[in-house]
Amino acid sequence: MKVDMDKLVSLCKRRGFIFQSSEIYGGLSACWDYGPLGVELKRNIKEMWWRDMVRERDDMVGLDSSVLMHRAVWSASGHEEGFVDPLMECKACNQRWRADDTKDGRCPDCGGELTEPRMFNLMFKTFFGPVEEEAAAIYLRPETAQGIFVNFANVMDTARKKLPFGIAQIGKAFRNEITTGNFIFRCREFEMMEIEFFVKPDTAGEWFSYWLEERQNWYIKLGINKENLRLHQHGEDELAHYARVCYDIDYLFPMGWSELEGIADRGDFDLAQHAKHSGKDLSYFDPDSGERFMPYVIEPSVGVDRAALAFLVDAYDEEPDKDDIRVLLRLHPDLAPVKVAVLPLSRNETLVPMAKDVYAAVRKCFTAQYDDAQSIGRRYRRQDEIGTPLAVTIDFQSLEDHQVTIRERDSMKQIRVPVAELTGTLELKLSGEPLEVLPPGGKYWLGFEE
Ligand code: ATP
Repeated sequence: MKVDMDKLVSLCKRRGFIFQSSEIYGGLSACWDYGPLGVELKRNIKEMWWRDMVRERDDMVGLDSSVLMHRAVWSASGHEEGFVDPLMECKACNQRWRADDTKDGRCPDCGGELTEPRMFNLMFKTFFGPVEEEAAAIYLRPETAQGIFVNFANVMDTARKKLPFGIAQIGKAFRNEITTGNFIFRCREFEMMEIEFFVKPDTAGEWFSYWLEERQNWYIKLGINKENLRLHQHGEDELAHYARVCYDIDYLFPMGWSELEGIADRGDFDLAQHAKHSGKDLSYFDPDSGERFMPYVIEPSVGVDRAALAFLVDAYDEEPDKDDIRVLLRLHPDLAPVKVAVLPLSRNETLVPMAKDVYAAVRKCFTAQYDDAQSIGRRYRRQDEIGTPLAVTIDFQSLEDHQVTIRERDSMKQIRVPVAELTGTLELKLSGEPLEVLPPGGKYWLGFEE
């Protein structure tokens, strides 16, 4: 379905996914705080990326480098010179725009005349140490990649890896963006998940295609509809100063097709620059061929916040529900902030001890939520809206037959299973087993009136 961004923003605020930063003081634009559910979603995205890109691969190692780096890094990398956007200012309303967000030299907001573009560096500058002078100026990193390049030799010396291999990193980045908006799509503070994959120069093309494919498949595996992804190749005028070739994986966001992830062939630009500026040898010795050379680098790079937006947009759905509308997030179970809701049919005191026991057992294995407020139908809807894939309901019959029901978010179907089989069954269902497959002693169940 076509998702209305305002509805999604309102759900995120109402249900505790995402809040405006410093909201009680009027907000700080393009900075966002993740609430109790948002932080779980974001952690899950990072966890899945780390699992699939690092832990389950033999050719990848991780890194966590510091946000603050020697200023020489940004001079060598070209960011001091080249990490700029053309900025234009409206002579009528004084709003500032990135030149590529404007048309015909006119302000997109009021139609006023714009100034000539001037180059604006997107790096945030601050002071290192107690003295506020230019000699003490350093930058907040605008990408995590440079932390990887300057550690290339350290990792080579310690991780015993042969080419091709990659270094992956997740961490905060800061960009003083000129035009912001579209919720968490473009933030001034955000998190990145970046891979620098080092290869022999003559294999860069193959590896570029490999990562293009691999990264699209990752989104599809985690539930993104294939139809909402497309590739966009950067033309000469769009290429970043370091890139030889660059493709965006675009996603169909509510405001239209926009970049979700960038895959760039950075050649040997970064290693060569750092070798030159630091005077350190950053070349690679290939023990098989006896040659020494500068590796080429393929870089898949994505913002966690932007990925979170894509997953939320893709999961958002509305369905007719009697006289009402059922709002649900069809999030992949690996991403859902809460995996299992535990719901006693009522607050009747005879039910509570068993319900609490079930909750204690379930929360040991999965992120779970206990909810006993209001009717069972209302509680199912609340869980649907935050994307909880499964709900376990304990009723009066459970006290006698030691069985509970499992209700599935997407189909609203239910099965009844022995408590002894519960956690094992939940595990299988969360990994994709159809609800209809019953555990020993399980049965189909018409379900409670919703
Ligand atoms: P754009 O053209 O949208 O400004 P970019 O081409 O400068 O982006 P890259 O430098 O390629 O972006 O950054 C890699 C990835 O980091 C992007 O694909 C995006 O997912 C994420 N990203 C970049 N800037 C931001 C931002 N301001 N807020 C959130 N995520 C961002």
